[in-house]
Amino acid sequence: MNKSIPLFLACATLVSFSFVKPITKTTKQINVVIDAGHGGSDLGATSSFGTEKLIVEQITKKIKFLNKNENVIVHLTRNEDKNLSLSDRAVIINTIKPDLVLSLHVNISTNVAKSGMEFYVANESVAFEKSAEIANALRTKFTQNNSLPSSEVKKAPFFILKKSVVPAIVVELGYLSNLTDRAYLTDEKEQDKIASTILSFVSELK
Ligand SMILES: [Zn+2]
Repeated sequence: MNKSIPLFLACATLVSFSFVKPITKTTKQINVVIDAGHGGSDLGATSSFGTEKLIVEQITKKIKFLNKNENVIVHLTRNEDKNLSLSDRAVIINTIKPDLVLSLHVNISTNVAKSGMEFYVANESVAFEKSAEIANALRTKFTQNNSLPSSEVKKAPFFILKKSVVPAIVVELGYLSNLTDRAYLTDEKEQDKIASTILSFVSELK
């Protein structure tokens, strides 16, 4: 009997250990607001091949749909084609206070040769430095994923950027007026890739 006690304890220890959950680092929950620019009667950049408001809405919905990471919460300012004022967007953003705001847009130019992505942050933002840091990293991420080329991160006093109390970036995804960009922006697979690049980037935010 005496001899059986240590054996029993050993077994109990073994059994109890098998129920111990593996030690995992607590993963931070990341909240991101994706703001699809324009909407409703505000078409944004327009060509016979499509409108900015619909292209950014399609990509925005893909970001929400393709997100399988339970630690990433995707909030949308609009998920339908409707008018939404800039100040209403700012209210939504500042109520949620996410880790990051990405306002998605599509460019247009009378110079059809003009092409590529552009990233904007605002000097006037209370989160300017963090916004610029994240914008540079996001730009690198898109470059690594072979998206359209992009210029250096630029500064502009866009309303959404100035009013957001959290890091915020305006992303111009490409030029609707450029043949290559247009084919890219309206292609289903490329839109999926844009969405997954953003999701992958957001999931790595610290
Ligand atoms: Zn726009």
